[in-house]
Amino acid sequence: MTGMDSTAAAGFDRGAVTRFAPSPTGALHLGNARTALFNFLLARRAGGRFLLRIEDTDAQRSQESHLAAVLEDLRWLGLDWDAGPDRDDGRGPYRQSQRGALYERYFEALERQQAVYPCFCTPLELEAARRAQLGSGRPPRYAGTCRALSQEQRRGKRAQGLPATTRFRVPAGRRIEFVDLVHGPQSFLSDDIGDFVIRRADGTAAFFFSNAVDDAAMGVTQVLRGEDHLANTPRQLLILEALGLPLPGYGHVSLILGPDGTPLSKRHGATSVREYRDSGYRPEALVNHLFRLGHSSGEHGLLDLEAMARAFDPARLGRAPAHFDAQQLRVWQKEAAHRLPASEARAWLAPALPAGLGESAASAFVAAILPNVVLPEDARPWERIVFGPAPALEPDGEQIVREAGERFFAAAAQAAAQSGNDLQAIAAAVRTATGRKGAELYMPLRLALTGRSHGPELAPLLKAMPAGQAQARLARFA
Ligand code: GLU
Repeated sequence: MTGMDSTAAAGFDRGAVTRFAPSPTGALHLGNARTALFNFLLARRAGGRFLLRIEDTDAQRSQESHLAAVLEDLRWLGLDWDAGPDRDDGRGPYRQSQRGALYERYFEALERQQAVYPCFCTPLELEAARRAQLGSGRPPRYAGTCRALSQEQRRGKRAQGLPATTRFRVPAGRRIEFVDLVHGPQSFLSDDIGDFVIRRADGTAAFFFSNAVDDAAMGVTQVLRGEDHLANTPRQLLILEALGLPLPGYGHVSLILGPDGTPLSKRHGATSVREYRDSGYRPEALVNHLFRLGHSSGEHGLLDLEAMARAFDPARLGRAPAHFDAQQLRVWQKEAAHRLPASEARAWLAPALPAGLGESAASAFVAAILPNVVLPEDARPWERIVFGPAPALEPDGEQIVREAGERFFAAAAQAAAQSGNDLQAIAAAVRTATGRKGAELYMPLRLALTGRSHGPELAPLLKAMPAGQAQARLARFA
């Protein structure tokens, strides 16, 4: 079998249909978010369609709450879908748990051609066979125990009430070839593939089957997914071929590794989109880092999704694993935060603002501190400094403030009250009273007002301070 040709492999055929197919068994992991992003970009770049299909046939592990969270996280990232569980386009439903009737038709088609057979092996028997194979140094695969049962034997087992899975009869002596969008030409021998389960004993469709059949039924033309699925592809191509269904192009994207070179996992800290979102990361920052994980792009700087779609090139998906880099993510985060328009910045920092703060005071405060903030938690110390009780001076500050002297602060306090916390007016008054200028003038002011020698630009910070409070802080040293 030959799969897609090389033009299709380039992924630029107009109108490409891609999909993201999460199983709602947990939080949206960064690796899956990247898979969703790449598929989204591939469709957008080709003027095609991006579908969201929920793979929830494993009822025990799938949960409604996980599904809702995944949808919310995708929307938050900006990865909106053209059709999905909430939005049908005539090819749905987009939840596999609701597609049983369609699977049944395809199961029957395979049964008619005897491409499948019932398997009565128990999990215990399968495990024993697996161990025996491993023990004798052979790769474990289904031994074919139920492959050649006669109709008579099958009837007998059914009559005993034995549960049966359905296995796909893998044809002998075949070579299965396809061109992977990332890994290039692939070749597998069917003799290395054991007959595999496509329908569980409870009648539900197994992954290999529902995943492949749905791609065809939904008109998916390109599948980008994790590298862990590469070895599944020949099985899925066999199913599609047996059913005479169209084959999508497949691209298997390299794993994401943590800094120690092992696959990104809880050990490395936060791994879900939700954790980053909850600690105040911006969606733009996350997608910009994910965009560059395993995809080399000549585009520098923070890109929006539209620009990313233009720059996305599946030919630039790397085979080598990509390293998640928390420091790099922080760089994007800083850039994304500093670019926020005023109203969005206010909403983003809302959790770090004092309760009951008026809108214009909140805006002044946010404008003052935004350049010094990467995450909302960085705003909290400044919230205390600006609105809380007068902060203690940092150790070296005492001396500087004392040296500036009482006249300095008497002039500053008076000018603060008269000018409405205008730094220029205060500086002019202090200059006149003391002759100081430059750092000699500004450092004592900064220390008296904030307790610190470093921080956000002083003029906007002073504007954000309650008027009486700034005056009182300066007057402490007068
Ligand atoms: N539900 C599968 C997963 O989450 C989808 C694999 C695929 O994209 O084909 O791994």
